Amino acid sequence: MKKKYIIMLSFLLGIIFFISIIFINDKKIFFSLKGKSFIELNYGSDYYEDGFEAKYCNKYLKLFCKDISDKVRISKREIKEKNKYFINYNLIYKNINKVLTREIQYIDKESPVIKLTDSNISICPNQEYIEEGYKAIDNVDGDLTDKVKTTIKDNKVYYTVSDKAGNKRVVYRDINYKDDEKPTISLVGGNKSYIFVNQEYVDRGFSANDNCDGDITSKVEVHNNVNTSKTGEYDINYTVTDTMGNKSVVTRKVVVYNDASTVPKNGKFIYLTFDDGPGSYTESILNVLNKYNVKATFFVTNQFSKYQYLIKKEYESGHSIAVHTYSHNYGNIYSSLENYINDFNNMNQIIFEQTGMYSKIFRFPGGSSNTISKFNKGIVTEIANEMTKLGYYYFDWNIDSTDTIAKDSNVIYNNVIKEVEKHNNSVVLLHDIKKANIESVEKIITYGLNNGYTFLPLTENSPQVHHHINN
Ligand SMILES: [Zn+2]
Repeated sequence: MKKKYIIMLSFLLGIIFFISIIFINDKKIFFSLKGKSFIELNYGSDYYEDGFEAKYCNKYLKLFCKDISDKVRISKREIKEKNKYFINYNLIYKNINKVLTREIQYIDKESPVIKLTDSNISICPNQEYIEEGYKAIDNVDGDLTDKVKTTIKDNKVYYTVSDKAGNKRVVYRDINYKDDEKPTISLVGGNKSYIFVNQEYVDRGFSANDNCDGDITSKVEVHNNVNTSKTGEYDINYTVTDTMGNKSVVTRKVVVYNDASTVPKNGKFIYLTFDDGPGSYTESILNVLNKYNVKATFFVTNQFSKYQYLIKKEYESGHSIAVHTYSHNYGNIYSSLENYINDFNNMNQIIFEQTGMYSKIFRFPGGSSNTISKFNKGIVTEIANEMTKLGYYYFDWNIDSTDTIAKDSNVIYNNVIKEVEKHNNSVVLLHDIKKANIESVEKIITYGLNNGYTFLPLTENSPQVHHHINN
């Protein structure tokens, strides 16, 4: 009996020992990932490593483990175009190589952004929409501006774009077809004009522009009630309406006066006067004056007799014709009153032949203040008294263009306008036998018209600008 127990006990101990040996010595590698092996992440968000488990333990009970994490090598592989990462966990231990892989897929759920320079624009009803500009940016694909498709429908411009992941964006811009802007009318020569009574009123011109219709000068209606035979202030109304019915009216005041001294103080006048012609440049200067419908005064001579015919042309263009001198010979004309009057009458006779009128206006050669006549003491005083008695009017100048010295049209122009600004009545001395004046006269006229000056020819009623007589 006792022997039987001993045998059974030995057998049990043997089994326990055998199992123990197996448990302790039969080991294996436990290698697994913590977390999921496939992870989806939103593009741009961070991936946090979940880690892994690497142990060498008893095969059956996972006991008596040894941490072998340090035997794991981690490497990354990227497939950029698919926004994908593979993380490889490579374990080599006791000549065993085990590899685990985790896949990380980045997903783009964000639509591109389209930026418009202005989401709401107004354009003219008759105009075509011109793209104002836009930009499309995607969080993954970057600049997608080139991929944007635009369509116009129901007064809206739609902008559509999709990124590679298929996220779509549509934005739109409102187009307001409207025109509530009035046309603008500009008057050449300013909004105030002065004319001498019984002088013909000639409009200097105007232009009308509309933000939508463009140049609509031809649509301007002019209402003119100027009575040139009666002094007073008159209105000329210029009216224009654009296609959408926006209406503009501007008014030009026309002052009809009969005496320069009665002209309101804000009247600014330029009397261009040309001495010593007609000559070879006179015709070109006449063309400039006619181009701007500016009237001037020619103090004529017979120095270049083949141009006499131009006196007629000057007269017919509305300019004042006045006597300067037939000979322009100081030694002769200032030697006696008789010689002066003879010379004067010879010139006035030519004027009569060309125009059918004798002139009442004259200018002393050298001006009334000249000293060149001093060889004959008191002669200018004597002539001035006698001519006044005979009913003639002489005019000097208060602005010398210096065109007898200066050859550059800009210098002449600058000399004149610098002085013009100081006077309400500018009588400008020029010579139509100077070539530079073809240019300088045009510049002076352009300046004058743009700055509210009125160009007038001298008449018996014009302000008589006189120098101080020196002899
Ligand atoms: Zn002269």
